[in-house]
Amino acid sequence: KQFGDCGFSSTLMGAISKQAYEKPTSIQCQALPIVLSGRDIIGIAKTGSGKTAAFVLPMIVHIMDQPELDKEEGPIGVICAPTRELAHQIYLETKKFAKPHGIRVTGIYGGMSKLDQFKELKAGCEIVVATPGRLIDLLKMKALTMLKATYLVLDEADRMFDLGFEPQVRSIVGQIRPDRQTLLFSATMPPKVERLAREILTDPIRVTV
Ligand code: AMP
Repeated sequence: KQFGDCGFSSTLMGAISKQAYEKPTSIQCQALPIVLSGRDIIGIAKTGSGKTAAFVLPMIVHIMDQPELDKEEGPIGVICAPTRELAHQIYLETKKFAKPHGIRVTGIYGGMSKLDQFKELKAGCEIVVATPGRLIDLLKMKALTMLKATYLVLDEADRMFDLGFEPQVRSIVGQIRPDRQTLLFSATMPPKVERLAREILTDPIRVTV
């Protein structure tokens, strides 16, 4: 399989070439066609598998398919990750593919000023990459709404639960319209994560690497 088989635009293919990704990794080969078709997915994969691009590339396609980008109403894509380190890595990877399309990405996690993040969110963005606690804080401050969000990624769901973020994750999911596309990635699938997946995903396809 090749990235060229995914129907990506020349802009996106250019961004992929720039990363020197020659061919899709196993998780990308399995996940890309499923996610691009609009289905929900459970991806059982670890860091290092290339899972970030497996959810970011279809997110870019999803956003570019929207009729128009509206500054006022908040992000279309929401990515949640357990730690600021992971969120920052995802943020950097997302920017590489978003920037050539003029898609704005805001990182919402500790280590940066909440006020700066507030201002950036108010200025508008199409993607947020967040840790659950900080995202909840900024939602409470009305820095953003998720009324327009239609593409949700929960990354390292097992670790988010290990760190005690289950209530925050559930609160975030509850604020995003039910007809969204939902992607859940986890290295392991303990019963609590299985239960969440059953509750928040619609007829998901499961892939394992
Ligand atoms: P991840 O598992 O998403 O954290 O990705 C691990 C590393 O693999 C990152 O440095 C990515 O930039 C890189 N990567 C992702 N997809 C590919 C690919 N298809 N070919 C080569 N490297 C990749």
